[in-house]
Amino acid sequence: MSSRTEAVKIAPNDAFNIQTVLWVKHWNEHLFSFAVDRPASLRFRSGEFVMIGLPTDARPLLRAYSIASPSYSDEIEFLSIAVQDGPLTSRLRHIIPGDEIYLARKTTGTLVADALTPGKRLFLLATGTGLAPFLSVMRDPDIYERYEQVVIVHSVRHVSDLAFRDVLESRLAGDPLVEDEAAAKFRYIPIVTREPFPRQKRITTLMEDGGLFDGVDGEKALDPATDRVMMCGSMDMIRDCSAILERLGFEEGSNAKPADFVIEKAFVG
Ligand SMILES: Cc1cc2nc3c(=O)[nH]c(=O)nc-3n(C[C@H](O)[C@H](O)[C@H](O)COP(=O)(O)OP(=O)(O)OC[C@H]3O[C@@H](n4cnc5c(N)ncnc54)[C@H](O)[C@@H]3O)c2cc1C
Repeated sequence: MSSRTEAVKIAPNDAFNIQTVLWVKHWNEHLFSFAVDRPASLRFRSGEFVMIGLPTDARPLLRAYSIASPSYSDEIEFLSIAVQDGPLTSRLRHIIPGDEIYLARKTTGTLVADALTPGKRLFLLATGTGLAPFLSVMRDPDIYERYEQVVIVHSVRHVSDLAFRDVLESRLAGDPLVEDEAAAKFRYIPIVTREPFPRQKRITTLMEDGGLFDGVDGEKALDPATDRVMMCGSMDMIRDCSAILERLGFEEGSNAKPADFVIEKAFVG
């Protein structure tokens, strides 16, 4: 994807850490993963996001990114869209190992276990790169102590957008910290909306017709008494799924007031 062989270095900046790209993996022409080394001082909770960026002639060009690695990881991993003509990602898509990027010193976010009250089943609903914070949450051993089941629902347009499909289908086999717990408690429900695929319906339809519970133990309906939900991705998905949850009696939570479901709107459309 990149013809460069020489890494780009950035001048120091007081407001940001400058981190080195360790690896890059392109899933298709508009989706890629990459990781940078972790600054010793960076603390975060699994599911949080951080500002990252590249230099410009004026000030750094920054965007919010969910951290895809869990809180204990030595690497800070991201899952990124490549928007054609997108100010940041039209450049970021060309990064190579050894390049440097800006990484803010502070993280934040609501897709964290602490923003939910205790429950039995945790549903993680994602469209597109909305998978990123849940890659962090699902690889954190703490989540398997809190929940009897952890269900990731990932809806994308094309089959090639199903990043991490093999890892998720294997229920995180080989993960050094959560492999045993995930083998028993983790469920993966992929959806592809614009190509032939076993599951092609929208998440909202699956919520209502029971498809969301394929292979999941317990009731074939969401219940605020036992279920908790995190959502990340497009505005449309979050708006429509939130409306269904609220009709079922779920309350939206936050760091200040934990409740039954939490959301993060990562992109429009
Ligand atoms: C809290 C938060 C967390 C985010 N986490 C991620 C993440 O983990 N990975 C990621 O790729 N992006 C994430 N984003 C979006 C990210 O901040 C940028 O918008 C994205 O990287 C594109 O940047 P850009 O400068 O190239 O284009 P922008 O000018 O930012 O966006 C251009 C257009 O692309 C659309 N777009 C932007 N991001 C996406 C996306 N991820 N998927 C589909 N369409 C998109 C926008 O709706 C807009 O119309 C997050 C945003 C927020 C607010």
